Amino acid sequence: MNKSKKIKNINWFFDNSYSKLPNIFKEHIKPTPVHNPELVIFNEELATDLNLDFSNVNTMNLAKLFSGNLLPEGSNTIAQAYAGHQFGHFTMLGDGRAVLLGEHLDNNSNRFDIQFKGSGRTSFSRSGDGRAVLGPMLREYVISEAIHALNIPTTRSLAVVKTGEKVVRDNLLEGAILTRVASSHLRVGTFQYITAKQNIENLNTLVDYTVERHYPQIKSSKTKALDLLNLVMENQCQLVINWMRVGFIHGVMNTDNMAISGETIDYGPCAFMDQYDPKTVFSSIDKFGRYAYSNQPPITKWNLARFAECLIPLIDKNEDASIKIVTDLIDNFQNIYEEKWLNMMRDKLGLFGEDKEDKKLINDLFNWMEKNKVDYTNTFCHLMEIKIDDKDYKDKNFIEWLNRWKKRSKLNSPSKEKQIKLMKKTNPIVIPRNHKVEEALKEANKGNLEKMNKLNAILKNPYKNQNEIEEYQVPAPISGEKYQTFCGT
Ligand code: AMP
Ligand code: MG
Repeated sequence: MNKSKKIKNINWFFDNSYSKLPNIFKEHIKPTPVHNPELVIFNEELATDLNLDFSNVNTMNLAKLFSGNLLPEGSNTIAQAYAGHQFGHFTMLGDGRAVLLGEHLDNNSNRFDIQFKGSGRTSFSRSGDGRAVLGPMLREYVISEAIHALNIPTTRSLAVVKTGEKVVRDNLLEGAILTRVASSHLRVGTFQYITAKQNIENLNTLVDYTVERHYPQIKSSKTKALDLLNLVMENQCQLVINWMRVGFIHGVMNTDNMAISGETIDYGPCAFMDQYDPKTVFSSIDKFGRYAYSNQPPITKWNLARFAECLIPLIDKNEDASIKIVTDLIDNFQNIYEEKWLNMMRDKLGLFGEDKEDKKLINDLFNWMEKNKVDYTNTFCHLMEIKIDDKDYKDKNFIEWLNRWKKRSKLNSPSKEKQIKLMKKTNPIVIPRNHKVEEALKEANKGNLEKMNKLNAILKNPYKNQNEIEEYQVPAPISGEKYQTFCGT
């Protein structure tokens, strides 16, 4: 493997702070070179946002760069250690198939982790092969970029390459590497890993590092650990509100998949809900619905409690006092969530001000949607007077509800335009419908990216009423077969 001295002018600006942390935090390891890398998709817009310029790099060298075969100068590859509660069970984990290339600073000194996913075995691989498959990596690309366009904090996708090597799963599949961009890869599980190692100095180091990187406003606070907990709670609460808003189901909210920054991370079996059902689960391994749509808020709270446990030794010298403080704080999650949720729903319905009947009005709509198996996204489109198939909305119970909504809408007498404007900021017109994602992936797997490029282009403007997108607005035809997703392997 050689460093890319020959490829100049990309403007990489690496400043690798994580690799300077004590060795317990990571393993220094290079990506395993791949046989025959081939560029599949490259996110030029994101590259520009990062102030990177690949215009002088030919396709072959792009493939070498985004496979890790050619490492840029200034990079310092590591695999990060972390732990996690996976479906409730604690395990020591780590990047088993990913390496951090380094941290790139853009022109405004914003710091971004650049990570390869699928880059070969590390000491955290356990029995895994360290590799990833083309379909799931492209799926992460599509969904993460869609989530970004929906104005929801998320990791981003810069490129996907095929490795030219087959990967053994149920059958032989095309190997691939995703280049992921994140504000960091600090997870709840990172704290759990360091806590499990029982070294208070390292725990302090991790808190200081996290604060410096994500929450510098509390740098000189006397109650830093507690403030950190509060801020992470705020961000993760806001994140799950956003997921609920657009009908996104993450699918595997293990503590190792919850970012301290509040970004959506680790796109595996995630998917968007079509018809409204709070119990919706897509993941084939989520047998008991732990990560079902309506369970996402309580699971966020559960994960935050695991984070809080890690911080207990740093909050008060007296352990009991510390436990009391964090317990009270975590117990308040429900109140914070409900208030935020109610306001988010008022926005979705274009309701200004507050009325004591709001919660009932909102819940009655949800009950109606659930009972009548009506599409979540399109119901709000219908209220915004966006043209969609309106056969579901001729139901007399819905019309009754509509009259209540119209009456409530007059409170504080906003104009219809003002109401619609508010709703248009909050309600996507187009989401990555499962059948459209599958259709695009199927073609891409055969080497034809036309459908995927079109899908990506439409998903870039989810709040805009674009022309000729009807086929992207209709839910999947009811086939009797439930849509299932699999962990991104
Ligand atoms: P995930 O389900 O992608 O969140 O991964 C959970 C853990 O399993 C992480 O520590 C991953 O690094 C590891 N892992 C997942 N797939 C593989 C693989 N093919 N080889 C090695 N480790 C893996
Ligand atoms: Mg993960």
